[in-house]
Amino acid sequence: MSESEPESEAEPDAEGIVVVLPDGSELAVDADATVEDCAYEIGPGLGRDTVAGKLDGNLVAKEEPAYDGAELEIITDQSDEFIRVMRHSAAHCLAQAVERHYDDVDLAIGPPTDEGFYYDFDNLDIDEDDLPELEAEMEAIIDDDYEIEREEVSIEDAEERLADEPYKLELLEELAEESDTVTFYSQGEWEDLCAGPHVDSTGEIGAVKLLEIAGAYWRGDEENTMQTRIYGTAFEDESDLEAFLERKEEAEERDHRKIGNEMNLFSIQDVTGPGLPLYHPPGKTILKELEDFVETLNQDAGYDYVETPHVFKTDLWHRSGHYENYQDDMFVFDVGDDEFGLKPMNCPGHAAIFQDQSWSYRDLPIRYAENGKVYRKEQRGELSGLSRVWAFTIDDGHLFVRPDQIEEEVERIIEMIFTVLETFDLDYEVSLATRPEKSVGSDEIWERAESTLESVLEESKMDYEIEAGDGAFYGPKIDFGFEDAIGRVWDGPTVQLDFNMPERFDLSYVGEDNEEHRPVMIHRGIYGSYERFFMVLIEHYEGKFPLWLAPEQVRVLPISDDNLGYAHRVANEFDAFRVEVDDRDSTLERKIRAAHDDRVPYQIIVGDNEEEDGTISVRDRFEDQEYDVEIDAFREHLDAERDEKRTEPDFLQD
Ligand SMILES: [Zn+2]
Ligand SMILES: [Zn+2]
Repeated sequence: MSESEPESEAEPDAEGIVVVLPDGSELAVDADATVEDCAYEIGPGLGRDTVAGKLDGNLVAKEEPAYDGAELEIITDQSDEFIRVMRHSAAHCLAQAVERHYDDVDLAIGPPTDEGFYYDFDNLDIDEDDLPELEAEMEAIIDDDYEIEREEVSIEDAEERLADEPYKLELLEELAEESDTVTFYSQGEWEDLCAGPHVDSTGEIGAVKLLEIAGAYWRGDEENTMQTRIYGTAFEDESDLEAFLERKEEAEERDHRKIGNEMNLFSIQDVTGPGLPLYHPPGKTILKELEDFVETLNQDAGYDYVETPHVFKTDLWHRSGHYENYQDDMFVFDVGDDEFGLKPMNCPGHAAIFQDQSWSYRDLPIRYAENGKVYRKEQRGELSGLSRVWAFTIDDGHLFVRPDQIEEEVERIIEMIFTVLETFDLDYEVSLATRPEKSVGSDEIWERAESTLESVLEESKMDYEIEAGDGAFYGPKIDFGFEDAIGRVWDGPTVQLDFNMPERFDLSYVGEDNEEHRPVMIHRGIYGSYERFFMVLIEHYEGKFPLWLAPEQVRVLPISDDNLGYAHRVANEFDAFRVEVDDRDSTLERKIRAAHDDRVPYQIIVGDNEEEDGTISVRDRFEDQEYDVEIDAFREHLDAERDEKRTEPDFLQD
């Protein structure tokens, strides 16, 4: 703010304070004004409707005092945050219901989440069959419309009230370091140590549903007691709840962990470690197809494959800056007197390869590709299936280019990304992230880089959003996000310009002027991480992969054992495909069901009639069946479908 700026319109009186409202205007209030007082100051209607507030982005109870200079937002039942407040109150109803039905339960914590709420309990012996009873009790509590009262209590009083609650006492001990008082919220006969905020009465809670029971360590630490966590959700009305439950069911049907298990694609086991996926043969078959596909794209675009190890001396990570900025996410260990780190990124290895040679301007661009495995130490509690892991592989590419080559190279990369998006028919969104406040590189090169990326996006005619200031400190980037079946967005392809690493590695080429010049580095991933991409594909196809990806493409089902010999002869005719014969002693009906469950794209059924005529019957996974099919004709169909890389639902209809 400059000295010459006009004085603010809202001047606090001698002992008053000033808060800043969402529209940027300022509001002068008394020094001891609460959030609710501020709301009344704005208008009596708003005062009455106030549920809670946000002070500098933190959700607080309406009874909390405002403070000078705070950005204040008033939360009413019309605000987006209202549902969070209501869900927190629903969590309290759950705990109240539990304590009405079970003796000697110890309460832990019960916060709202993005999709609902949970409450953790110790000494609670319960299973999912007990949930409807608790849900009915919660509904009774909501019907009784208890007033939810907030009370400020001294630490000593709180200790007395919580004498039977060991976990709450532990929390209290920490709170006592910060403040002389704590708050309790009560409803009817029940109360909880809680910072709030809450709705005014239990009657304001809409439709509730308890979802599942899970084990959870106290404070997320495996060294601590395993407690019982009950998950639930709450919505403003029954129809919102129904819509949510439908989406949830759909997501569960498509869940890549479920399908991955059913199709034997991958596993993540306790004995091998958290976040470390193991790919089983069917899963690796799909991965291999994905690797081959991107390899053809890389070859067409002039990339050379390189290979780097999984671990480097930390000297390299000091040089790249990862050690200073990324250390907490790295696996670092000593060997003798040297320190090593598993690689969290492939770029420094590629920069080291580039640096090992001298280059002329005529050699550029240099394009390196590697399916590079990287390791990042995410919080254990955050790990989930293939979406968040410790070990994953990036279809990585690094380009070393002259500044005048940026545009053409970025265009080519975008083209590759388009080929992938179209091949898999994925929904996506695109963003351009520009220069953040802290950054390296000259104004000139940033401006040039940003306008280059922007013009490439404009030319490609796709919709994109500009995320101002969201670029990496080392350069601007284009990010693609995949939208999944239930609207979540996952990190996908990325193109990032980098002016920093070439500096750190002192990379250079000799220009036309015979002087040394700094190349620009481009990081790009076409799939991004294979793990994340695989997850998106499993859920996108619900495991019904197009023919070229299907681990088992064709299964031959002999109607009886008499047709086994013919079945094997037919299978040989399809040896250019991944084909199996179901030779189990089982009925045809069962064999068809098994092939369907295994999501095999095509079943070839052979019985006496087919054997006599030298033909086959073909059944697809959409349960269309055609008889008297010529073997050669079907093989040609399969060839075409595999090359198309698409599923044709009407395959047998034309
Ligand atoms: Zn609470
Ligand atoms: Zn990179």
